[in-house]
Amino acid sequence: MSLKALIFDVDGTLAETEELHRQSFNDTFAAHGLDWQWDEALYGDLLQTAGSRARLAVWMRDHLGRAPDPGLIAALYRTKTARYGRLLAGGGVQLRPGIADLIDDAARAGLTLAVATSAGRVNVVALCDAVFGRPAFQVFDVIAAGDEVAANKPAPDVYRLALKRLGLPPADCVALEDSHIGVRAARAAGLAVLACPSHYTRHEDLSDATQCVNTYTEIGGAADLAARLSTVA
Ligand SMILES: [Mg+2]
Repeated sequence: MSLKALIFDVDGTLAETEELHRQSFNDTFAAHGLDWQWDEALYGDLLQTAGSRARLAVWMRDHLGRAPDPGLIAALYRTKTARYGRLLAGGGVQLRPGIADLIDDAARAGLTLAVATSAGRVNVVALCDAVFGRPAFQVFDVIAAGDEVAANKPAPDVYRLALKRLGLPPADCVALEDSHIGVRAARAAGLAVLACPSHYTRHEDLSDATQCVNTYTEIGGAADLAARLSTVA
C-alpha cells in the first residue's frame, strides 16, 4: 500500500459529538413546542440512520407512525444545526485521544487529509473551529459532506465523492471510522478501514473493518498506520 491520504469520518471518529447532537435535538424539540425526548437508548437506535434529516424522518415514520413532514424536518434541522453550533462553541467537545497526533504526523509525512461525513458541511466547519481552533479548510484538504450526496452511509457515495476530490484511487487511501454503517460505506467504496469504536458504537460489530483498535493512541503515526493496514488489506 502506498498511503497518500487519510479520510476521516467526523462524528464519533474525530470527536465524541453524539451526546451534543442528542442534546441539540432535544433542545430543538422543546423550542418548537414538541414533547419529543430522545434518551440515550433511543438515540443509539436512531444512529443506525446517518444524517440528521434522515434520522428525523425515520423517527416520524417508525416511532410516531406518521408520514415524515419535509417542512417540519427542514425547520427542525435549521434550529438543531444552529443549536449544535452554539453548544460546540461553548466548549463541550474535544478531539478523541490520539487524533491530533495522528493528524499532525500525517501532515508532516505529506499525506493529504480529508473528511467524509453524513453530517452537513456546516457541522464540520463548526467542529473544526471548536476542537482544532482552526478553519476546517486549514485542517483538511478535502471535505465531502452529507448535504453533497444523494445517499448517506452505509451507501458509499460520500467516500466516492471524497476520492474524486482527492483525485486518488481507493488503494492509496485509508478511511477511519467508528460505526458499522461507516465501515460498510468505506468498504463499499473500496477502501481499507481502520475502525475505532466510540461511545455509541462500542457494542457494534466492526469486524468488516481492515483493522480495529480500541483507541487512536495505539497508532504510532502515519507510517505505523500504513504498515498495519498493508499487512492485512
Ligand atoms: Mg461516525
